[in-house]
Amino acid sequence: MSHIPGQLGTPLDPRATRVLLLGAGELGKEVAIELQRLGAEVIAADRYPHAPAMQVAHRSHVVDMLDPTALRMLLLREQPQLVIPEIEALNTQVLVDAEGGNRRVIPTARAVALTMNREGIRRLAAEALAVPTSPYAFVDSLADLEIAVGEIGMPCVVKPVQSSSGRGQTVIPAYDAGQHRAAVSSGLGAAVLDHQFDWARRAWAHAQSDARGLLGTGEAPTRVIVEGFVDFDYEITLLTVRSRCPETGETLTSFCPPIGHRQQDGDYRESWTPAPMSPAALARAHAIATLVTEALGGWGVFGVELFVRGDEVLFNEVSPRPHDTGLVTLVSQDVSQFAMHARAVLGLPAGEPGPVGGPGQEFAASCAVLATGSGVPRYDGVDLALTVPTVQVRLFGKPRVDGTRRVGVTLARGASLDEARARAVEAAAHLTVSLV
Ligand code: AMP
Repeated sequence: MSHIPGQLGTPLDPRATRVLLLGAGELGKEVAIELQRLGAEVIAADRYPHAPAMQVAHRSHVVDMLDPTALRMLLLREQPQLVIPEIEALNTQVLVDAEGGNRRVIPTARAVALTMNREGIRRLAAEALAVPTSPYAFVDSLADLEIAVGEIGMPCVVKPVQSSSGRGQTVIPAYDAGQHRAAVSSGLGAAVLDHQFDWARRAWAHAQSDARGLLGTGEAPTRVIVEGFVDFDYEITLLTVRSRCPETGETLTSFCPPIGHRQQDGDYRESWTPAPMSPAALARAHAIATLVTEALGGWGVFGVELFVRGDEVLFNEVSPRPHDTGLVTLVSQDVSQFAMHARAVLGLPAGEPGPVGGPGQEFAASCAVLATGSGVPRYDGVDLALTVPTVQVRLFGKPRVDGTRRVGVTLARGASLDEARARAVEAAAHLTVSLV
């Protein structure tokens, strides 16, 4: 049965509105909860059992989503009207083949394919749409990387094209300017080259060892992007929502207030909203987000990541789905990014973000709770965390941790960004995660 916007079935009935989540992490868990609230039938799939969204779905499957046969079998078995990819490590050809007829891929199979790889989205934004970005080059060998680092200059950032959360990423530092001038004027340019080559070698090795996904199978070198390092004043996520207008059937674009965030090791640690921006920078951010999301198409929430320097705004990347920094919208908005996504993908009006906080609670923040090591998480201090005014805690229920993983988030509101951030950080500090 095809899904008609505005019409919803009953879960576990043959005429249910069936939604398949490909990837069942913490963001998918919140989307699943919102879909369930609207009476959709939710099926969650991931590579490992008991993933967070599986714990709140009607059914779940453990599947290697890079395996085309396994993914096709899953689609055949579940016959979902909507397929929502939540992760990037997917066989996108199967999604392209699956789209059409009675089935929609969210936001579109093409958007998922373009954004799963830094090359697709960077070339679309910078080359097809002429959106401002850092200077960049794509390379497939160490020799070409050395040349690209020389051309783009240092500092620069090297990332595998297929990676997220800072994996495989290296910042190549600037060669000290004073030394550099002295080296060049005294004919010692070789010192600069040594610095460049040495770092290029390290960055190449790091990118190759940490790359993941289809290109990271070890059979061929993983392509990397070299980007000029942007000395931004701050970075934001602009949650951009494309949803269907019930009156006209047209797709409307709307925005949540900008979200500021702090990244460490390429991963988000804190986010806050509304991030202060000049009207000119905000207008540019809206224009860039509109262009990029229109080119990707479909309905749903997009997390548009932007670097801001004065009134200048550069595009970094975009998630065609809710964004981790947008966890803060669970307390900053009447309709969170997850609720907006659930509504939009079902062809419903996404709703207004609308502030929830009354006087003294106009600002909101989130702080990631991390665990490092190996084992099953146990959380202590949840009671103390909840004594901090306005605080809410989300523990994702990840079945185990190997390495460093985000296992929860604290959320708070306040009369200022500083107050909201301090509360979220204080609550996170009360939590101790042991891996047992
Ligand atoms: P990404 O995986 O591309 O989102 O990068 C993760 C984080 O690394 C970003 O949110 C920035 O904080 C930082 N970063 C990435 N690319 C650059 C760049 N070209 N210049 C400066 N910082 C960057």
